[in-house]
Order: sequence, then structure tokens, then C-alpha cells
Amino acid sequence: MREAGRIVSRILDAVGEAVKPGVTTMLFEEIALRMCEEYQVKPSFLGYLGFPYATCCSVNEVIVHGFPNAERLLKEGDIVSVDMGVIYQGFHGDSARTFAVGEVSPAARRLMDVTRESLDLGIAQVRNGANLFDVSAAVQKHCEDAGFGIVRRFVGHGVGVKLHEKPEIPNFVPRGLPGVTLKPGMCLAIEPMVTEGSYDVDILEDRWTAVTKDRKLAAHFEHTVAVTVDGPVILTSSE
Ligand code: MG
Ligand code: MG
Repeated sequence: MREAGRIVSRILDAVGEAVKPGVTTMLFEEIALRMCEEYQVKPSFLGYLGFPYATCCSVNEVIVHGFPNAERLLKEGDIVSVDMGVIYQGFHGDSARTFAVGEVSPAARRLMDVTRESLDLGIAQVRNGANLFDVSAAVQKHCEDAGFGIVRRFVGHGVGVKLHEKPEIPNFVPRGLPGVTLKPGMCLAIEPMVTEGSYDVDILEDRWTAVTKDRKLAAHFEHTVAVTVDGPVILTSSE
């Protein structure tokens, strides 16, 4: 899983270097596919429940599960979330980052910063014996204190030999559920999806693309994190 995570982080590093005004998100898909070939790994998402691409590329009001697009040119001020997973020797790594295209508005920058910070704060709660919802609570508090919305419709997940394993990892604390106790050996894909306005979601006609109902911006950061006796180990951190 460490190797799967390392490869995913390298792919996202390369995508990040390619983000600029005038490129299309299909470039990111091409980079991801080429690097999967180089590393001789399979992309986790391609064909998963019928998803047609190796990457999810989600621009501006798209929260998650956007299709790479060969026509629309990214423009200065856009934000684009790229989500990518690979399978290395039967194990998945899963990670996402939101990138700024050139200079973005202060509001967009703040949304991205708060989302990334909330992921870090959630990860900081990961330890042997902690409750999973301590992670959820840390993410939720940071985003809601900043005035942002936390998407309910999609959640993080356990990850390992399958892309999506138990437990579900909500970015909010669900009422009336106990939450599982974290133990060494668990691997968690923690992935806050955060909105500038309402957290309500629309799904577009392609049946995948999830957008904010109010069409305001959304950001998404994700790491695959191992629970160890010494605390969290981020398997998808950038070099
Ligand atoms: Mg992901
Ligand atoms: Mg995930």
C-alpha cells in the first residue's frame, strides 16, 4: 500500500505541474495513464462500476467524479480537483488534490486551503484506539467554522484490496451511530469534499458528475492513511 500510495502521489505531482490556463483535463488523464504504464500498475477507477476514465477531473462547481474533458480549456481562476487511484500488487492507493489554475480568487484560495487543512486535522486524529468519528468531527468543525458546507452525499472509506472497504468515513458526525474504533493495520481514505455554499448535490445526466446544487465552488483533498501503533502514516503524501 505504501508503494501504491507513492505512485499515486507521483502521478498527482505530475498532474499538478501540468495544471495551467489553456490545457484540458484530458491532459491529466493522459499523464495518469502513461505513468500507470511506466509503473506497470492498473488505475483503480477505470471500469469501476462502469466509470469510463482513470482520473476524476472536477472543475469549479463539480465536487467529484467529473469526466476528463478534451474540449474545455481550463482558464485562469478555475480550480480543478483531480482524484486518482492505482492498484499495485493487488492493493489500492487513493488520493485527490484541488489545484488552482493560475491566479484564483481569494474565496477560491480560502476554500482550497480550508479543505486541505481539514484533511490534515482529520488525519491528526488517527491513532490506535481513537474513534473514527473523531476524524469526522475534526474535519467538520474546521470547515463549518470557516463557513463552508460539508458534502453528505459522498464519504471517505476504508481502502486496501478493494478500492472501497468498510468503514465509511463521513466528513461530518452522523447522529446516533457509534463509530468504529481505529486499530493498527487499518487503512483509511479520508477525503473531505467541501463547498463554498450549500452542501446539496446534483448529479448530471452522465450519471456520474456531482455538482453543487447552487453551482458554487467545491474542493476535494484525499489521502490514504495507515493506522499504526505510532499514529497515522500518510501513504499518498507528495515528495
Ligand atoms: Mg479518491
Ligand atoms: Mg476515495
